Parts: sequence; C-alpha cells; structure tokens
Amino acid sequence: METILLSSSEPDLAKAASFISGGEIVGIPTETVYGLGADATDPEAVRKVFAAKGRPADNPLIVHLADFSQAKDYTTSIPELAKVLAERFCPGPLTMVLPKNDRIPMVTSGGLDTVGIRVPSHPVMHRIIELSGTVIAAPSANTSGYPSPTAASHVMRDMNGKIAAVVDGGESKFGVESTVISFDDDHTARILRPGCVTREMLLEVCRDVVIDKAILSEVAAGEKVSSPGMKYKHYSPKAHIIMVEASAEDFRSFADEHCSDGTYFLLYTGDEEDFPYKYMTYGRTSEEQAHYLFSRLRELDEAGAERVYVRAPSSEGVGLAVYNRLIRAAGFEVIRI
Ligand code: AMP
Ligand code: MG
Repeated sequence: METILLSSSEPDLAKAASFISGGEIVGIPTETVYGLGADATDPEAVRKVFAAKGRPADNPLIVHLADFSQAKDYTTSIPELAKVLAERFCPGPLTMVLPKNDRIPMVTSGGLDTVGIRVPSHPVMHRIIELSGTVIAAPSANTSGYPSPTAASHVMRDMNGKIAAVVDGGESKFGVESTVISFDDDHTARILRPGCVTREMLLEVCRDVVIDKAILSEVAAGEKVSSPGMKYKHYSPKAHIIMVEASAEDFRSFADEHCSDGTYFLLYTGDEEDFPYKYMTYGRTSEEQAHYLFSRLRELDEAGAERVYVRAPSSEGVGLAVYNRLIRAAGFEVIRI
C-alpha cells in the first residue's frame, strides 16, 4: 500500500476523514503525540491498527471525540466527577476510563468492558473527527514498543506502506501521551498513566488522586494491572538506555568513568558546556523534556548510539510523565548516585 502524506489543508483533512470513514487507517497529529486513527466503531478498521503497530490485542485503544457531550453515546454511565473533570480539562490531554456500551466493539477496548475517552484539542485531529462522522480510536502511531512519534516523519518511518496516509500537522506540542485516569469512587481519581494533566491539576477538582503503583515500578509477570499498557515494554529505541539519578556534577564524573565508543549521554539542556563525550540534550524544564524526549530517543538510534546514559528527569509535576516513559525505555535499569 502506498502511504500518502497529507497537509493540514481543509481538502486534505476531508481526504483523511474519508479514509477513516471508509475503514482505512491514518496517522494524525494531536497535541500529545501522533495517533494512528481508525473508526472506533468498526472492528475491521480497528484490527488494522493493531496489525500495523504489532500491538498486543489486550492493550485497549483510546477513543477520541470531537466533544465530551458525545461520551454518553458510547458509555453506560458517566460519574459526576468525570463530568466536572471534562468541564475543566476537555479538550486536552486527559483520558478518562468509563464503562463502555455496545457501540464500542470489544476489539477496540482490548476485551475490557470499559473505554478510555479523550477529547483532543489539536485542531487537525478535531476537524478529522468532525468530518469523519464517527469517533476515532487512536493509539500512538509508532511500532509497538518503539518511542512514540511526535512528528509526521516519525510516523512515516514506522508506518510507510502499512497505512493509507499521514497528516502533517507539525511537531506535537506536549510530546508525551495523555494522562489516563480511572475512578476509585465518587471523589477519587486514579492515575494509570501520567501525562501533562498532572496530579496537582487533578487535585483542583478531585478530593483525592491516587498514583497507581505500576507507574514507577515494574509489573511482575502474571500480576493483575489496572491498565493493560502497564505490562508491556514501551518507548524503547534500539540503543540500550540506562537512567542515572545524579546531580549535573555527579553525572559528569559518572561520564568520565563510563565513556566508550558507542556510548552517548543524554543531558539536561544547559549542562552541555565543555562536555567532552558524545551527547544530546533533552530540555531543562519538565515541559521541555516531555516535548523533546521521544524525538531524542529516535535521533539517538539514527546517530548509531549503542548505549545511552540519561540524566534522570525530576518526577515532580509533568516530570512524572517524563520519568515514567524513561524508566520504561530503560527497562527499569536505574543507577542512583
Ligand atoms: P496508547 O494507545 O499508545 O496511547 O496507549 C493507551 C494507554 O491507555 C494504554 O496504556 C492502555 O492500557 C490505556 N487504556 C486505554 N483504555 C483503557 C481502559 N479501558 N482501561 C484501562 N486502561 C486503558
Ligand atoms: Mg503508545
């Protein structure tokens, strides 16, 4: 199949939407990362998404709506707290897990009786949903296990020949996937995957916000998880990633002892002056690090890095999302200095 590159012009968005309503799959920009979109109500189209990504069948897809008012058409009930959160955070990078109805096929929800619902704010994704006349299931548009795509070129690299089209909408603003939450009770949200809607932000609305323990620690084989995605290896480039928790100074001394031919160091921006070994930087603030992380992981592969020591990010605020992605990319290999 030839994969065509579309622009964000109205005729091209109409083309993308007609691919989706016709049962094909398309790479689409969102404010988090690029998604691989299919008609969420069409099991055959959704199967193509799993096949193109090589995604395990039990890892559910998030369903994207043009407006939260559509949520009632795809769920059996919506908790009051979800409605209040929607007022505050939709459209935006927040996914809420709700009980699904029969309009969402089991293949979309990975066999669960719940569905993750999100209202994206990116105007391109929003317009494609509107024009398609349906709701769009879209996981990140990477090959399963590889870093998520934050540019149309990343999607092309992973999906060329496997999907109908990619829409170029520029770089993703946030750079990490949405915050995924479920509800423990009427007043408590549980973060299943951290993102740019932080625990602190959720606490402006929820009485309590629990951080699921699988966010920062490895899930043992056979252990029951709240979100199937927690079980799988994720975000990993070909290079062997190792996280190093250290001050800038200690990281520099660590580099002196661990430099070698195929080794790169991933530094905070601002720490690179006179750094004598091969390195890249990934921003300084947590927001910058979220924005750059996945593209740097891809660039490290392109540069031929075999081993990468990353100065660990903060795990505060948006940093928790960056930390969560990196510790998975590192297969939980962390050196603490
Ligand atoms: P991705 O599609 O790559 O953005 O990943 C979606 C993430 O959301 C995965 O980690 C899923 O496990 C999680 N997710 C989606 N739907 C549900 C659901 N119904 N229940 C729990 N987690 C979900
Ligand atoms: Mg993904």
